[in-house]
Amino acid sequence: MFTYIFCKGVISLQSNDKLLQLNLLVLRNGFLDKYQLDSRHYILSGLLGEALFSDFVSRYGHKSWAIYSDYWFNYGKRMQADFLLVTSERWLVVEVKHYDGRFEYKGNECYLNDKLMDDNYLLAMDLRVKKIRHMAQELNQDIVVEGLFVFIHENSEAKVHLDYALDFDVKLRNELKGFLSQLKRTDNRQLSDGHLRKVDAVLDKYRVKNPFLPKPIKQEDWAGLTKGINCCTCDSFDLAYRHKTVICNDCGAIERKDAAILRMAEQVRILFYGEDYAVTGARVYELCDKRISINAIHKVLRDSRK
Ligand SMILES: [Zn+2]
Repeated sequence: MFTYIFCKGVISLQSNDKLLQLNLLVLRNGFLDKYQLDSRHYILSGLLGEALFSDFVSRYGHKSWAIYSDYWFNYGKRMQADFLLVTSERWLVVEVKHYDGRFEYKGNECYLNDKLMDDNYLLAMDLRVKKIRHMAQELNQDIVVEGLFVFIHENSEAKVHLDYALDFDVKLRNELKGFLSQLKRTDNRQLSDGHLRKVDAVLDKYRVKNPFLPKPIKQEDWAGLTKGINCCTCDSFDLAYRHKTVICNDCGAIERKDAAILRMAEQVRILFYGEDYAVTGARVYELCDKRISINAIHKVLRDSRK
């Protein structure tokens, strides 16, 4: 579930499975190829931008607002909203860009530091706002749906040349506090649980899965990975295996074996992401470099499924 009410949560860099898989490949391969490196940079930059925005809202927004993050939907076309901020007076569709440098929009094209970008992010935003407006109107014709396009990086600049009006606001990081503070003064009524349930129902109706989930690694890649339990604190593979614990020879961290087995099972799940029955005793046994008995592994896996 993607909803949380302020100030309960922040976006965690540990919550992105694709990033977790890339990090595991670094840990156990020692490297990423160019495509994987780009992919990791892109994910990290996006998550950092979203975490920054989330922090702004928790500091300057109203406690009664509901926020939905990374909302994927299909309303005639599959799209994603970084955030949907639901207040007593409106739905705010938010796109966050964490660009280091100068963004320019001219001749209907986007440039970052004078380099032409692949997509027209402003047109996509316009469409995103319009589609979510149609969805909101299923709930109530009078709901106001607006858009906010934020350049959140501290070095971001934005120049937008347009001869028509956009369906959303464009703000830089230094304007965000003022924008949210103003919104807090006007959108300050408490949202009822009943209303939020209706919002959830509309969003659920159009919700689709994130299409950018990781794919299971190939058998030959699995074969090439470094095996063994990595230290729960420093990631070293130099561990001493005791009766009920594993102890890191580098940093001294002690972990119970059953906890280490579950951690390895989770790594298997991430590595073979999306496969039915990805987590098998045999795979966990192999990932532990056969240093823990297969019977102990089966028992821990069985107990965890109870
Ligand atoms: Zn260690």
